[in-house]
Amino acid sequence: MVTEPLRMPRDRTVRASPLVGYYRVGMQWGQRMRRLASKAAFGAIIGCVFVGAAAYAQPPDLVLLDGKIVTVDAQGRLHEALAIRDGKILALGTTAEMRRLAAPTTRVVELGGRTVIPGLIDSHLHAVRAALSFSTEVNWIGARSLREALARVSDAAQRRPRGSWLIVAGGWNELQFAERRRPTQAELEAAAPDNPVYVQLGYGWAVMTDDGFAKLQVSSEADLPAGGTLERVGERLTGAISGGQAAIIALFDRLPKPTFAEQMQGTREFFRELNRLGLTGVVDPGGNNLFPADYQALFDVWRSGELTVRVAYSLNGQTAGSEFAELKNLTALTPMGFGDDRLHFNGLGERITFAMNNNPEPTAENKERYYEIVRWAAERGMAITMHWGPDSTIEHLLGVFERVNRDVSIASLRWSVAHLNDASEETLRRMSSLGVGWTVQDAMYFGGEDLVRRGGPDAGRRIPPVVTGDRLGVVIGGGTDAHRVASYNPFTSLQWFLDGKTVAGTAIRGPEETPDRLLALKFYTLGSVWFSFDEDTRGSLEVGKLADLAVLSQDYLTAPLDEVGNIESVLTLLGGEVVYAAGELATFDD
Ligand SMILES: [Zn+2]
Repeated sequence: MVTEPLRMPRDRTVRASPLVGYYRVGMQWGQRMRRLASKAAFGAIIGCVFVGAAAYAQPPDLVLLDGKIVTVDAQGRLHEALAIRDGKILALGTTAEMRRLAAPTTRVVELGGRTVIPGLIDSHLHAVRAALSFSTEVNWIGARSLREALARVSDAAQRRPRGSWLIVAGGWNELQFAERRRPTQAELEAAAPDNPVYVQLGYGWAVMTDDGFAKLQVSSEADLPAGGTLERVGERLTGAISGGQAAIIALFDRLPKPTFAEQMQGTREFFRELNRLGLTGVVDPGGNNLFPADYQALFDVWRSGELTVRVAYSLNGQTAGSEFAELKNLTALTPMGFGDDRLHFNGLGERITFAMNNNPEPTAENKERYYEIVRWAAERGMAITMHWGPDSTIEHLLGVFERVNRDVSIASLRWSVAHLNDASEETLRRMSSLGVGWTVQDAMYFGGEDLVRRGGPDAGRRIPPVVTGDRLGVVIGGGTDAHRVASYNPFTSLQWFLDGKTVAGTAIRGPEETPDRLLALKFYTLGSVWFSFDEDTRGSLEVGKLADLAVLSQDYLTAPLDEVGNIESVLTLLGGEVVYAAGELATFDD
């Protein structure tokens, strides 16, 4: 069973100097792909040998038969069946071949034609933070109406103690609701009369019940964090608060934190929730409202062997003006890559310094302080991931990266830029030549309507230009930026990659920047895994790689486009272990 090869970055061997960095990185990526390809071919041979001779000496622990295995290997091959031993892929081939490998002790999963993909990897998900509060927050992702969202608040009020906070921390947008509007304070009061309720939208707006205002001791605007305002209709207060990102972040920080036991529970549950959606890996960029002490629950869940998603995490500057000292301190005992295949330290970002964070006009001094830190990181072989908004100001960042690169080559360090939705071709060329990757999120799923309203119908046509980026040799990772500003559902993001439609159903991207299904899947697997240096061990289904995979509820390759977003996993394996199972495969839950 072989289909069209998965499209890989173009052969760049003809693109020699003066783009030296570009050339070198292109070669690395290409060589890796070739290495993977030759490994896969070798694996196929080994598979045959097993069938003939050593099958009973080394039988698989588990075989998946009679399915459609989308390998995401360099040739884009499909197989019918796959065998796993000791957490790794032992062989791929036909059902008959895998059956012959099996011993009486081998567990057999009959796929019944279902599609299997490599476990999905979100290259920019604030998972550590989302996990801490997952057991105590109310989750509005995927709610199709405000009515349904409010019912989730009522449900939570039944389950949680009277008087405890009910918090919706983000991940929703009013355009996902049939009513096309935000909740009112009165609706929240009615949904949970005995609990204080706080609902946040992105980083610009929140609404609280009266009980919430009382608990946070906010009785006038003066009690709000700087930059926050109480929304009014005429003279009447609506219960909503608007303001800049800093004000909303500071307001959120006043809410009670989950207890440590709740953080542990939330962390276990959130990663299982990601497994339900076929995710087996995340690259976590730290983020707002997250401090060093907040990583303890993650570390405890990892130490107890209960981490069901592989996490590569980076560290942020914490205090404006003191970032360099803090980062030196934080990383003194965590060299780049420190950890294991479930959890490892992955460098700095997405906020290195406050002065360069969301600042379109950094001063020379701001850039000098930033340069000192990232140059220091380059000397220590650290990856950097950097949050950046518009292309019009990217010179401030890339200028610093290029300056560092003149002193210390960054080509092998896998620095990356997150967001940058309107990247120009020139920017992508510069990134490519530096070996800087790009993590791309579905921000336009929620934000596209606003973009088109402000910029006209063509404003979103090439946003984000992932086909161009891929053509120019920029390594692209898929993802979401959840859970404040987006849903963490990878299939929401994959559908958006494929149809360019906002949550309200408006198609804003043109076909020229729309990847095909395999390319979008590659972004979310082999692309994402590049950012944590793990493409030799995961990101595709090939012999010798970790058996991280998801069996899907519908065929990702052929499902109607508008159903891609509804796909879920019915069986997720992490290193060959069942971490999620549902439906007729539920009996496989370990
Ligand atoms: Zn960001």
